[in-house]
Amino acid sequence: MMDLLIKNGTIVTANESYIGDLAVDGGKIAAIGKNLSYSSAKTIDASGMLVLPGAIDAHTHLAMPFGGTVSADSYLAGTRAAACGGVTTVFDYPMQRKGKGILETVEARKEMCDPEACVDYAFHCIVTDLNDGALLDEFQAAADYGITSFKCFLVYKKEGMMVDDATLIKVLLKAKEVGAITNIHAENPDVIDMNIEKFKKEGKTSPWYHYMSRPEFVEAEADKRAVHWAKSVEAPLYIVHMADKEGLEAAVLAKRQGHDIYIETCPQYLEFTCDVYNREDGRNFVCSPPMKGVESQKALWEAVKNGTIDTIATDHCPFMSYEKDWGKDDFTKIPNGCAGVENLYPYMLSAANEGIISFNRAVELCSTNPAKIFGCTQKGSLTVGKDADIVIYDPKKAFTISVSNMHSDYDHTIWEGKMLSGYPVQTYVRGTLVYDNGAFVGKAGYGQFVKRSPRTV
Ligand SMILES: [Zn+2]
Repeated sequence: MMDLLIKNGTIVTANESYIGDLAVDGGKIAAIGKNLSYSSAKTIDASGMLVLPGAIDAHTHLAMPFGGTVSADSYLAGTRAAACGGVTTVFDYPMQRKGKGILETVEARKEMCDPEACVDYAFHCIVTDLNDGALLDEFQAAADYGITSFKCFLVYKKEGMMVDDATLIKVLLKAKEVGAITNIHAENPDVIDMNIEKFKKEGKTSPWYHYMSRPEFVEAEADKRAVHWAKSVEAPLYIVHMADKEGLEAAVLAKRQGHDIYIETCPQYLEFTCDVYNREDGRNFVCSPPMKGVESQKALWEAVKNGTIDTIATDHCPFMSYEKDWGKDDFTKIPNGCAGVENLYPYMLSAANEGIISFNRAVELCSTNPAKIFGCTQKGSLTVGKDADIVIYDPKKAFTISVSNMHSDYDHTIWEGKMLSGYPVQTYVRGTLVYDNGAFVGKAGYGQFVKRSPRTV
């Protein structure tokens, strides 16, 4: 009557940790208790292990056309890597373009993703053009379809992806009306483009000038502007990959004032500073926004610890070495993005294992909060009735990240050599084992589209 029984592990939720048994039936968590026993169930002894809800990476770009190429991980490779890092749901970002609708954009990507996905997946839809307002009429249908979040870029003006402030306000309001939330990538494009032009004229073309062209205050201005509009029209806002102290402080202040504002950061902003752009392999670290100075890094960690940052996601968007090399002598030719989906949960759990945050907080940041914010009602917690998305984690296992033990298609990683304390040993998606002790054991096409619920607030 039960398919799977995980015994004697320490079950961790966002609120508590306790030793217990967890039973799975039909892909759902069917029972949690002490001394459970089902003779027919496959039984696993998890003594000494942590039993965690699968992580939700709320920010990835798989098979994404960008920077004159396509990101190196297909839906297959990216979700395979996710499975091996304890991520059981991946959010991807289909991009609507001028003249196109939301549903046709999303459905085209769903068609690509569905046969390849190894873990469950959801979509935020990037909005780049309202088609003279017609697109707004489609927001309700998108929400009904399960797309309850949209994204706008306040940057990438030349690339035709940016929206102006009026468009942003229209999106904020319409998203709110249909029970959705608006995600924002906040940087100021005019100042970036001005700086780039200046540095190029001066022959300053090393990766360091990627950082120098979009430093702290360039992100902060756009963070603050996004917060200002969201506050002014009383619409929910989710700021993606927050990387600077000043913007963080503005968003935190607005949260404290009671506004519906959420903050995401990424492991790369917690681990690295802008110093990486002076390294020989600095181009491999080029992503936008760039890593910032140590003051921002400290502020981000503080917000991770004190609860004001809501989620950790990755912005996973790897490119091959030869593509990164296009910018060897010109930082503007480096495709922006780094790998991360397989490192997210192990990195945050390692921080917990080292006592920097609690395991409960790591679960909250990587699973429970993204599920709540984005309406994944069946996910994000080890609770009876939810999907059996489960990670078994060995806190004693030491692990050193290397491209050779990752499961993506890329050929290098910014995480090379990073030592972690503790590591996932098994990942289950809806009760099915997809990762087992270093090996991917899942199947392409197993992952399902997560139809999300509208916000109730
Ligand atoms: Zn992104």
